Amino acid sequence: MQVSIYNTMSRSVEPFVPLSSDTVGMYCCGPTVYNYAHIGNLRTYIFEDLLHRILTYSGYDLTHVMNITDVGHLSDDGDEGEDKMERRSRESGMSVYDIARMYTQSFFNDTGSLNIITPDITCKATDHIQEMIDLIMRLEERGHTYISGGNVYFSIDTFPQYGRLARLKLDQLSSGARIEVDENKRNPKDFVLWFTKGKFENQAMKWDSPWGVGYPGWHLECSAMSMKYLGDSFDIHCGGIDHVSVHHTNEIAQSEAATGKEWVKYWVHGEFLIDETGKMSKSKGDFLTLSLLIDKGFDPLDFRYFCLTGHYRSQLIFSWASLQAARGGRINLKKQIQAIRKASDDIRKPVASNEAQAILDEFETHIATDLHIPQALAVLWKLVKDKEIDPAEKLSLIENMDSIFALDLLQEERQEDDPVPEEILALVQKRTEAKKNRDFTQADSLRDEIREKGYAVKDTKDGVEITRTV
Ligand code: AMP
Ligand code: ZN
Repeated sequence: MQVSIYNTMSRSVEPFVPLSSDTVGMYCCGPTVYNYAHIGNLRTYIFEDLLHRILTYSGYDLTHVMNITDVGHLSDDGDEGEDKMERRSRESGMSVYDIARMYTQSFFNDTGSLNIITPDITCKATDHIQEMIDLIMRLEERGHTYISGGNVYFSIDTFPQYGRLARLKLDQLSSGARIEVDENKRNPKDFVLWFTKGKFENQAMKWDSPWGVGYPGWHLECSAMSMKYLGDSFDIHCGGIDHVSVHHTNEIAQSEAATGKEWVKYWVHGEFLIDETGKMSKSKGDFLTLSLLIDKGFDPLDFRYFCLTGHYRSQLIFSWASLQAARGGRINLKKQIQAIRKASDDIRKPVASNEAQAILDEFETHIATDLHIPQALAVLWKLVKDKEIDPAEKLSLIENMDSIFALDLLQEERQEDDPVPEEILALVQKRTEAKKNRDFTQADSLRDEIREKGYAVKDTKDGVEITRTV
């Protein structure tokens, strides 16, 4: 199966040809563990999981590395603002290390319940301070750094290719744009490699270094850790689209200036999940988490299914109604698959017929072509509804497809017998009585109360039907 993928560097879909014939190295920027992941972040990890699954499906021996940012990520992606971990520590009264531990755990709980495969290597920034110091020393030796106001900066003017990924127009930037200029910087786009002084002296996490006690700039960790585990050059680097212009641009500058080699062959970025207001930020305080979805009665796999319905390079708009629709689709799919299991006595037969082979080919073409997952999902639906293919053959195809979708399609549905809460049943009962007593005002107000609690009632000839609305 020849995989192709959109490379942000070339702005085109390219055939995937790994640097080495049998192994593939993939690095994905991981979470900043100062708070729960929001469902936007989780969309990015689902897209990376799909890429992981497609590459292993295609037979590559993949090494997937992801960092955990537990130091140095400021509230601004440049060098402004406060360290996100420190701010959370001040607000919560917990130590930065406890915060990191707690939110790292919650992150892996979320990714586990979304069937996201844990990367082969997950590495914490705070465990790699020495590697970061070594990298700064290499950059220093090659003349790419300067010290100003106590901090070590990367000088972008020493790296002429700076901004290639984001296609930054640097001349226009320095002459036209209004940027908050750090007076220590020779060029406004220079960035900090090591902080020792400035507004962050009370930092709880600090380490000794040749430049004094301090801590690393955020971008540095990804360069240092990816090169430690995947070598000076590797195949794929992923992240959310927001990282193109600053974080990944600076990662490239540091890495390539240090080694003199091309660092990454394919840059793969996932578009944002946004809510109806057009944003989804976790610094705003109030945000959508997987736990909130679960509290509202959704299965984490409803969210995974929802993400599979959009292409990773398109924005996806979250609403409760679309999540409910995804839930309906997923449950319906599983019901149909249950019927196929019954019809075949749960026996699976390898693909043999031309019809089944054609479905498999179609599925593989979609997953191999720049992650066309929504189209691949449509092929699954076509298979499920097909009247010709032997159910036992269908089952083996479904099992195969689910190695990519990871929707637990062949497992019993956990929530099908999810009961309507007692409170709702009691209100429905009261409404039925009110109707019997012809007190329609009371019946209507009970219906509204039930709706506010997330359920709809409908009178059918077989009785009252209760459905969830959120
Ligand atoms: P962070 O924990 O803020 O470092 O972000 C973790 C990952 O989530 C990064 O790859 C971001 O690019 C990505 N990300 C942030 N916001 C969103 C969003 N609204 N939708 C999709 N991905 C996002
Ligand atoms: Zn990164």
